Amino acid sequence: MANVRSDVLVPPDRLHATCPVCDADNPRPLLALADHLSADRFAAVTCGACDTVYLVDPPTPDGIGRYYDTSAGSAMHVKPGPLFVKLRDRRIAADLAPLLARLTPDAPVADLGTGDGSVAEHLHRHGHRAVGLDIYPRAEWTHDGVPYRQISFSGGGPTAEDLAGAGAAACGAVMRHVLEHVHRPAETLVGLRAHGVSHVLVIVPNVESRLARRLGANWYYWDPPRHLTFFSADSLGLCAARAGYRLDFLRTYGLDELATSAHRALLVRGGKRALCAARALRPTGLIAGAASVAQAQFGDTVLHAVLTADGR
Ligand SMILES: [Zn+2]
Repeated sequence: MANVRSDVLVPPDRLHATCPVCDADNPRPLLALADHLSADRFAAVTCGACDTVYLVDPPTPDGIGRYYDTSAGSAMHVKPGPLFVKLRDRRIAADLAPLLARLTPDAPVADLGTGDGSVAEHLHRHGHRAVGLDIYPRAEWTHDGVPYRQISFSGGGPTAEDLAGAGAAACGAVMRHVLEHVHRPAETLVGLRAHGVSHVLVIVPNVESRLARRLGANWYYWDPPRHLTFFSADSLGLCAARAGYRLDFLRTYGLDELATSAHRALLVRGGKRALCAARALRPTGLIAGAASVAQAQFGDTVLHAVLTADGR
């Protein structure tokens, strides 16, 4: 099998990535993927050593920010409607349940890649000690009363001090739709383990979902290059094991894949009518939202896991 590095020229603002789970440099071509927002193209490959699927030519950590300057980024700071808030709160409670069941009630929890802060705020509102951690400045944090720290995901991720932002060293960590975005997910988990985090809640797209296979390059959750690693249950287990964690809880659940994948396909195709249709099918819109609720029980879009430190 040819090594991708030897026959593809890597542009200066791109990396040649080794496997984000096992570090092997044995990529097998899988799919050419277009970014539906920038139209830039990326190569998804399968690791020849451990079968993890990842982008082999991602933007550099310094250069990836521009791919987030999108409608999703600005929507983060628009106040959502009351029905959306209620559904989101119910989803967050279900997502957190297997983590909280493994922690004492006073155990501090760090929400890595907290985004709009809804998980950290939910924890805080329910009496847990929580800190929100993300890459944006403190001035953009909107939840007074909930601790926040600006962090970097490079070089092993948050420091011990960051993880103690809730007042004491975090026992639990949340990485909800986050692990697929970081360049070196195994190293981030190694950092959490080294700083004494005993349990990590992880939610990531499931590259082996039934619809991912059928939708091919249109599958919404490729979302290149914002998503860099495409986990299966097996590769998530390997990633956890590298850091001294095991998959202590694992299930799948559904989110909309059809409306959002049609949205992605229309944006890649381009043209005025396609863009108009794409707007109705956007991930934050009513159609995708309703489809996600309907799919929750039956689908297998995401992996919902708790990683527990070995010996716990
Ligand atoms: Zn590998």
